[in-house]
Amino acid sequence: MTGVLNSPADFTDEAVAGLVSVYPRHLRRVYGGVIRAGVTRPGKVAVVIGGGSGHYPAFAGWVGPGLADGAVVGNIFASPSTRQICSVAAAVEDGAGVLLSYGNYAGDVLNFSLAEERLRADGIEAVNLPVTDDVSSAAADDRARRRGVAGDLVVFKIAGAAAETGLDLQAVTAVAERANAATFSFGVAFAGCTLPGAQRPLFTVPQGRMGVGLGVHGEPGIAEVPMESAAVLAERLVGRLLDERPAAAGERVAVLLNGLGATKYEELFVLWHDVRRFLLDAGLELVRPEVGELITSLDMAGVSLTVTWLDDELAELWTAPADTPAFRRGPDPDGLPRSEVAAPDELPQQFADATDASRTLARALVDTVADVASLLHDKEAELADLDAIAGDGDHGRGMTTGCDAALIAARSAAAAGAGFAATLAAAGDAWADKAGGTSGALWGNGLHAAATTLDDQKAPSPEQVLAAVRAARDLVTTFGKAQRHDKTLLDALIPFVDALDEARSRGATLAEAWSEAARTAIQQADATADLSPRIGRSRVLADRSKGHPDPGAVSLALVLDRVGRHLG
Ligand code: ADP
Ligand code: MG
Repeated sequence: MTGVLNSPADFTDEAVAGLVSVYPRHLRRVYGGVIRAGVTRPGKVAVVIGGGSGHYPAFAGWVGPGLADGAVVGNIFASPSTRQICSVAAAVEDGAGVLLSYGNYAGDVLNFSLAEERLRADGIEAVNLPVTDDVSSAAADDRARRRGVAGDLVVFKIAGAAAETGLDLQAVTAVAERANAATFSFGVAFAGCTLPGAQRPLFTVPQGRMGVGLGVHGEPGIAEVPMESAAVLAERLVGRLLDERPAAAGERVAVLLNGLGATKYEELFVLWHDVRRFLLDAGLELVRPEVGELITSLDMAGVSLTVTWLDDELAELWTAPADTPAFRRGPDPDGLPRSEVAAPDELPQQFADATDASRTLARALVDTVADVASLLHDKEAELADLDAIAGDGDHGRGMTTGCDAALIAARSAAAAGAGFAATLAAAGDAWADKAGGTSGALWGNGLHAAATTLDDQKAPSPEQVLAAVRAARDLVTTFGKAQRHDKTLLDALIPFVDALDEARSRGATLAEAWSEAARTAIQQADATADLSPRIGRSRVLADRSKGHPDPGAVSLALVLDRVGRHLG
């Protein structure tokens, strides 16, 4: 829904007024659209772009040094009038003539062609150039009938940069025409767009399907297929554009991956990750690609891919500086590029020297973690359900993800000869890295804290094990800032440590003391059902949580109990 408005009739006007007042350094308002705020060099060819509104940043967002001198702004999805085009052109033309460029739609062609004629009659040299990049809208041998979509940006950018270098109107037009001939776009739609104030979208795409070959004015696609994974979609988009690779094309391409309005930037980046791979596999060199909202269609969901085959001149103009509200390009940053920084688990592992006894124990730790991981997988759904009562339902997944990562890290540390403490620390770090949620941070850092009290020399004594467990409890208390009876995992952990201490002081073996303390933890975890959460996510829905135990306390007690079976 395009829902934020005062009245449909004022939508475009108010949007332009708002835009201009955000960017007073760039834009001035004139009848029919916007022009650059700064006076340009005398003798520079003026570049005027335009079309309907509803496509921001096309077209008013692209006015400024290095790009357009003015943009004519029509109503939503409607061509601006001849008079509006003339008004904007006359406001920026300064004796060297004006290039009028726009997407190839019947209304725009009519009005921009008439404007060209009227300007000429008034003694202003003018040329009009429709952009025709959309491969879905007509066959390759019928290029003049193709619509203009996101490829507009490349053509306008190249024309603007050419005008900036001082070329005359004929030369600017020639280079813009070359850019247009070298530009191809292909898109898909996931959902239609809604005109401001309208109750229904202009068209719909059934859930789970996509329209292939969309237009940017709410024209639905030419075919409908099931929704695809990012990788398959990327292959489809790239494949279609490579099909039309011109015979004389080199390897360098400008590339745009465009979101149509409702598709999120992060989705675009996921798709780009695959698009880039297919383009590189085709042997192409990608020159300053752009990923983002370039030509939108109100709140339409969908994407389009644009490729422009560059020669030396086009590449230089495409990379030249520009400074507009929605498209900025500065010089390349100074300094040498940094080398890639490896992730911690890609670095060669180095561990302190460990004794054989400590290494043997490290391998036993791996077996314990493996057993705990399988326990957590068995309990994943149960923990998720518990967390869903008053939390966000991710506790089961958080625990399995964390423990799986801990297992991989512990295995690789032990295999690399790490001792017990180093293996435990590696497991904790991996848990904290990979598990989300509050519990992931507390578990991972708690294990790490326990490890720092130990070493890789002797097998830890029962007293050292107790100290390590206390260190984990202290970390959780200090950083979690919860107290007993706040209904968190501390309500199992604190009684566990107390019971462990107590049993040891009675002379129980570590294994006996641990399993006794684990039973206490299980009881105490169950008893959290009577508590009302006072910290963490569940606090907000505290009432719902009444009568159900705390998921973090339950999982902790389960794990402690399982660990106990490996002691002794
Ligand atoms: P999130 O709450 O971020 O979604 P999880 O669902 O994985 O994380 O874990 C929820 C559990 O984390 C809770 O059941 C509780 O036991 C524990 N928890 C939340 N906040 C704290 C805290 N401040 N101190 C100790 N434990 C906490
Ligand atoms: Mg949760």
